[in-house]
Amino acid sequence: MNLREVFARDEIKKRVQDLGREISIFYGREKVLGVCVLKGAFVFFADLVRSLEIDMEIDFVRLSSYGDDTVTSGEVTVKNDLETDVWEKNVLVVEDIVDTGVSLYYFRQMLLSRGASSVRICALIDKHERRQLPVSVDFCGFRVQKGFLVGYGLDMAQKYRNLPGIYAIDPSQE
Ligand code: 5GP
Ligand code: MG
Ligand code: MG
Repeated sequence: MNLREVFARDEIKKRVQDLGREISIFYGREKVLGVCVLKGAFVFFADLVRSLEIDMEIDFVRLSSYGDDTVTSGEVTVKNDLETDVWEKNVLVVEDIVDTGVSLYYFRQMLLSRGASSVRICALIDKHERRQLPVSVDFCGFRVQKGFLVGYGLDMAQKYRNLPGIYAIDPSQE
């Protein structure tokens, strides 16, 4: 498999620290529930929360994923739900990539319907070319046009999550 580096380890480290500062300033003294969307965001989440100087709780969720041909329809289901009651909480959803927007569009609605007082989204990568539903990314690490990315938590068939940088898989050279 041919991997081309898109974001190096040091570049990611710096960007995550800056994001942490931005988010800390934004929330100030407010209490926050940070939600890690498994599995892809686990590395990003672990680095990000250590750069946040806020009063926070942490929880995890696993959402169902859809193949390319099903993304336009249906609601996203939750595979492993939160343990925390989000009622009247400020929820910060931490996601690896927002692509079509389908997962987070529905997850956001779900959190609001459960009574969250605010829902904000932090995504390591905003990949906007295939956006189908409007999702505003409040805190964004990097923007990319397209391409399939792996590393720093991101997988292809559960592989490559352990790579310290982010790489694009080049389909022309498989
Ligand atoms: P959505 O299309 O619902 O916005 O994104 C669903 C999920 O698909 C993302 O959160 C991410 O986990 C996964 N995904 C989207 N694009 C990529 C990619 O380029 N690489 C990897 N490894 N996963 C992706
Ligand atoms: Mg994800
Ligand atoms: Mg995946």
